[in-house]
Amino acid sequence: MKNKKFTKLFGNSVTTKVFAPGRVNLIGEHTDYNNGLVFPVAIDKGTTVELAKRTDHHIKVISKDFNYEQVEFELGDTTYDHHNFWVNYVKGALLELQKLATINQGYNIFIYGNQPLGAGLSSSASLTVALVKAISESMDLKLEPVKAAECAQAIENNFLNCSCGLMDHAISAMGLRGHALKIDFDHFAVEPCVIPEPLTLLVVNSNVKRTLVGSEYNQRRIECEMAAQTMQLPSLRQANMDLLCEYQDRLSPKEFKRARHIISENNRVECLYNDLKAGNFKNIGRHMAASHISMRDDFEISIPEIDHLVEVIQTNIKTIGGARMTGGGFGGCVIALLNKDELQNVIQAIAKEYTPGAKIAPTIYDFKISDGAYASEYVINT
Ligand code: ADP
Ligand code: MG
Repeated sequence: MKNKKFTKLFGNSVTTKVFAPGRVNLIGEHTDYNNGLVFPVAIDKGTTVELAKRTDHHIKVISKDFNYEQVEFELGDTTYDHHNFWVNYVKGALLELQKLATINQGYNIFIYGNQPLGAGLSSSASLTVALVKAISESMDLKLEPVKAAECAQAIENNFLNCSCGLMDHAISAMGLRGHALKIDFDHFAVEPCVIPEPLTLLVVNSNVKRTLVGSEYNQRRIECEMAAQTMQLPSLRQANMDLLCEYQDRLSPKEFKRARHIISENNRVECLYNDLKAGNFKNIGRHMAASHISMRDDFEISIPEIDHLVEVIQTNIKTIGGARMTGGGFGGCVIALLNKDELQNVIQAIAKEYTPGAKIAPTIYDFKISDGAYASEYVINT
C-alpha cells in the first residue's frame, strides 16, 4: 500500500489502512448501557488509522489532528499519558487486543480524522473501532463485528475511565448505508430501517462544549444502576412505568427521573422505528420532541443553547419531521429528521433565528448515511 505521507513520517510503507465512521443517533439516548434500545446511523465522516509493523517492540504514533504530535512508547507500556491524552486510546487498544492474542512486535501508527472531536458525533468510537480493526487485521486476528465493537468499547471503559455503552462502537462497526439500525442491547438484536423518501437528516453542531461531561455521564450511569437495584431488577430494561410508580417513594427524585427517561425513551425508539417502517411520518415530530423534553427535564443533560436550537428547528418544520439533541449531552449536536424539501428553509431559519443571538455560531453538516467499518463482512436482512 503506497502512502507517501506515511513513508515520509515513519520511513516504511503502510500495510494496513482502516476507516471507521462516526455516528448520529436518531433517538434512544443513554439507553445502551441500560440494556435498552437505540436507533443510530453511521456517517461518512470518521477516523482513518494507517499502520505498519516494526522490527522492534517500539510504538511510534502520530496524529495529524494533534499537530502531527509524535508519541513513542514500548509495547506493554500501561502508564496513562496525562500529557498526550489522545495517545491513551492507542495504549488502550494494544492492551485490549493483547488480551485476545499475542502481539509480537511494535507498530508505526498514523491517525487522521475528518469529523469534529468532542462534538457528540463519537470520534472516540470511530478512532477505537479503526484501531481495533487495523491492529487485529495486522495480527491476522479475525474479529466478528460485535466482538470488535466490544473491544473498542472496552478501551474507553477500561483505559479512558469512560463508562460509555456499546452503541457508538456498534454503529461505527456495523452501520449500513442508507439505513438506521435499531439495536436492542438486551440480546444484541440489530434491525435495519431504511430512511425513506422524502426524509433527510440535518445535523447541527451548536459548537457549545461543556466541561465535566465525563463525570456527569458516569454519574447518570450510577443513578440508573441505583434505580434498577432499588426496583430489584438486573437493569432498567426490565422496568416499566407501573413498577416505577410503585417504587417512587423508595427512589430519590433524581433516580426516579433518570429511570423515567430510560423507560420512556426505549418506548420512543420502538415507536419511531415502527412509524418509519409503516410510513407514518406525521408522528416523527412528536416522538423526537418528547425525547428532547425527557433528556432536558428527566435526564437533565441538555443546556439552554441546545434547547433554543431545537425549538427553532422544530417551529420551522412545517410539514413532517422533528428535532432533538443527539449524543451524550451538555452541548454538541442537534439532529433533525425532516422532509428534504424543507431543508433549505430550516437552514435559513437557523441563520436568522438562532445564530445572531448565539455566543458561538453553529455548524451545519451534510452527512451521508454510510457503512460501518465491518459492513462488508456481515450479512443482515434489510
Ligand atoms: P466524541 O467521541 O464525542 O468526539 P470524546 O471526548 O469521547 O468525544 O472523544 C474525543 C477524543 O478522542 C479526542 O479528545 C481525542 O483524544 C480522541 N480522538 C478522536 N479523534 C482523534 C484523532 N483523529 N487523533 C487523535 N485523537 C483522536
Ligand atoms: Mg466519545
